[in-house]
Amino acid sequence: MPHTPAVARTLPALQRTLENLRKRRATVALVPTMGALHDGHISLVRLAKRGADKVAVSIFVNPAQFAPHEDFGSYPRTWKADAAKLAAEGVDLIWNPDAKLMYPDGFATRVEIEGPATAGLEDRFRPHFFGGVATVVAKLLAQVRPDIAIFGEKDYQQLKVVTQMARDLNLGARIIGAPIMRERDGLAMSSRNVYLTPEQRKAAPALHRAMKDVVRRLRQSEDLASALAAGSKLIADAGFKLDYLEARHAETLAPLTRIGKEPARLLAAATIGTTRLIDNMKIQR
Ligand code: AMP
Repeated sequence: MPHTPAVARTLPALQRTLENLRKRRATVALVPTMGALHDGHISLVRLAKRGADKVAVSIFVNPAQFAPHEDFGSYPRTWKADAAKLAAEGVDLIWNPDAKLMYPDGFATRVEIEGPATAGLEDRFRPHFFGGVATVVAKLLAQVRPDIAIFGEKDYQQLKVVTQMARDLNLGARIIGAPIMRERDGLAMSSRNVYLTPEQRKAAPALHRAMKDVVRRLRQSEDLASALAAGSKLIADAGFKLDYLEARHAETLAPLTRIGKEPARLLAAATIGTTRLIDNMKIQR
């Protein structure tokens, strides 16, 4: 029978619980989340369980990564359901700090990242975002000091940013990426999918479908520009406003003009109604 996870909401409680968990040199995995947990998050928890003896999940809706016009206020908060899901997975610890604890009065530090954080993808449309993510992830890693931390490939650029930061700042945790979990119709799972109206929900898988079509065209040796143009049209025809649809080097995120031998990733962001969706996939030739 999985036991109920310990819930820590203060730093002393967190440290006490971690000391207990680390007895007999047990290793600890951290899965950082903003709650509103779905099966994508749960897949990260399962990967964490395979990679470490004990699993901590943080639930913190991080104000620092939302721009003023974004959805911080309305972001779904589903504590009871989240806690029940994590208990069912046998998670050991839920770290659930509040904004005052994370950013007390007088807080004056922000982690600045370059490299993957300035690749011209999400950063072009959400200039606040990666500074806020890097700052909160640096804090979470410093607070929990996990052996490994799991991040989803769903937020592909974020995974690269966090990996770079953990390496550059010697944060001590090994960052592990987890594959994207999708609904049966291909839509990437996201806490924000609840914003979609039934009609938009029906149209939303077109983003993933169009991306698969681009990958198929590339596999048939169509040139990159025309494959991307065809994909962009499919996405627009489904009612999306496209922010970007681009092929990038899978590791450095450097722009590609053609698909060659180097590992490549197709990345997209598009808005349907008022909901912005992101997705990405491997380009196989
Ligand atoms: P969030 O709560 O949206 O900040 O996401 C927390 C973590 O879950 C991040 O590392 C995300 O990349 C990951 N994640 C979100 N959606 C998915 C998904 N559909 N498949 C796999 N991982 C996901």
